[in-house]
Amino acid sequence: MNLDFTEAERAFQQDVRQWMAANIPPEVTERTARGEMLDKALQQRWEKKLGSKGWLAVTWPDAYGGPGWNATQRYIFDLERASAGAPAASPFGVSMVGPVLYSFGSEAQKSHYLPSILDGSTLWCQGYSEPNAGSDLASLKTKAVRDGDHYLVNGQKIWTTQAHWADMIFCLVRTDSEVKAQRGISFLLIDMKTPGIEIRPIRSIDGHHHLNEVFFNDVKVPVENLVGEEGMGWTIAKFLLTHERTTIAGVADTKRELERLKKTLKSTPSGMNASRWDDADCQRRVAELEIELTALEYTNFRTVAATDEGRPFGPESSGLKIKGTELQQKVSQAFVELGGPLSLTWDNDDEIGSTAFNRATRRYNFLRACTIYGGTNEIQKNVIAKMLLDL
Ligand SMILES: Cc1cc2nc3c(=O)[nH]c(=O)nc-3n(C[C@H](O)[C@H](O)[C@H](O)COP(=O)(O)OP(=O)(O)OC[C@H]3O[C@@H](n4cnc5c(N)ncnc54)[C@H](O)[C@@H]3O)c2cc1C
Repeated sequence: MNLDFTEAERAFQQDVRQWMAANIPPEVTERTARGEMLDKALQQRWEKKLGSKGWLAVTWPDAYGGPGWNATQRYIFDLERASAGAPAASPFGVSMVGPVLYSFGSEAQKSHYLPSILDGSTLWCQGYSEPNAGSDLASLKTKAVRDGDHYLVNGQKIWTTQAHWADMIFCLVRTDSEVKAQRGISFLLIDMKTPGIEIRPIRSIDGHHHLNEVFFNDVKVPVENLVGEEGMGWTIAKFLLTHERTTIAGVADTKRELERLKKTLKSTPSGMNASRWDDADCQRRVAELEIELTALEYTNFRTVAATDEGRPFGPESSGLKIKGTELQQKVSQAFVELGGPLSLTWDNDDEIGSTAFNRATRRYNFLRACTIYGGTNEIQKNVIAKMLLDL
């Protein structure tokens, strides 16, 4: 699709494209081409590379070390990053706790934590969900009790992505059980090496270990690790949900995946035809997905333009999340179905068909989760009903 970028924006796009071509480690693009995720070492190597260019925390204001781009530039950057074959940065540091710290943190917290998020040297994870507090997050029970110059934390988090990689976790904890549930929640920064933290792996349906349970048993956390004041945790959690989300629809990566599907179909021999792509049904299926994706991209682009005009990003982010995740799932489903038997093996690298088809089922399985994480699609529909339709 040819979006109507200005000359300056097209020049910016060329700069980003050239930098990506020269700087993405080949191991990263090889993994993306096969439909695989990166391991910790490779993900961190890539993020440090972005950090050294000042392009890791692209949404941060320049006062805190961001590149000072507008929303259109950030959108272009994301398109170029994905089409060049690199994954997005892990969101927990740059997109979540970083903006919380420069918006609510003390000067000491800003100078201590922001530099190592900017350069990619500290990895963070998000400790919100608990076994009985997911969509109903305010019912969380992990307790932090003040004891002199520290808090004593006890409880359990679950579904903690990359907790086994992380140096730090930001947590919602209950500091007051006497007040209304939302008012008794606080936001704490906890060093993952603190005694009393136990991480147990959860293997997900794609066969990989991304997720964890995190247990806190009498974990001592210095009071200076509280962000804002006691009881401000819910305000901070809501700030994170409405914080600028120009890439929430995942358009850039879905475009890349659709291109990858086409390329794989064209390079896979098929019976009497030269390739699987020669099958008319196959082309129709891809065309239908392209039409949906183009519509989503235009909708997304309208919100990017609104952001550049200074209008706040509101409940439309829920619509983008719903449609974007549904489309991610549809593309991964097409990958599996059009691959047929070739998609049935998980890690078969033999020469029968393409490795990309071999990995398709893993990816399809993983993406079942995208309509759940970041707030389930049912909850997003509730947001739309309440805030847009006034129901
Ligand atoms: C892959 C993955 C990664 C994750 N990573 C993290 C992480 O790093 N950190 C973290 O804190 N959490 C993480 N989560 C947790 C995620 O935020 C929760 O799974 C999510 O908020 C849903 O909560 P739940 O699983 O408890 O489901 P529940 O809230 O129990 O929901 C179960 C079902 O009921 C529906 N439902 C619930 N309430 C309503 C309602 N009011 N109206 C309509 N339908 C409703 C839901 O939509 C869902 O279909 C991750 C989850 C996944 C799957």
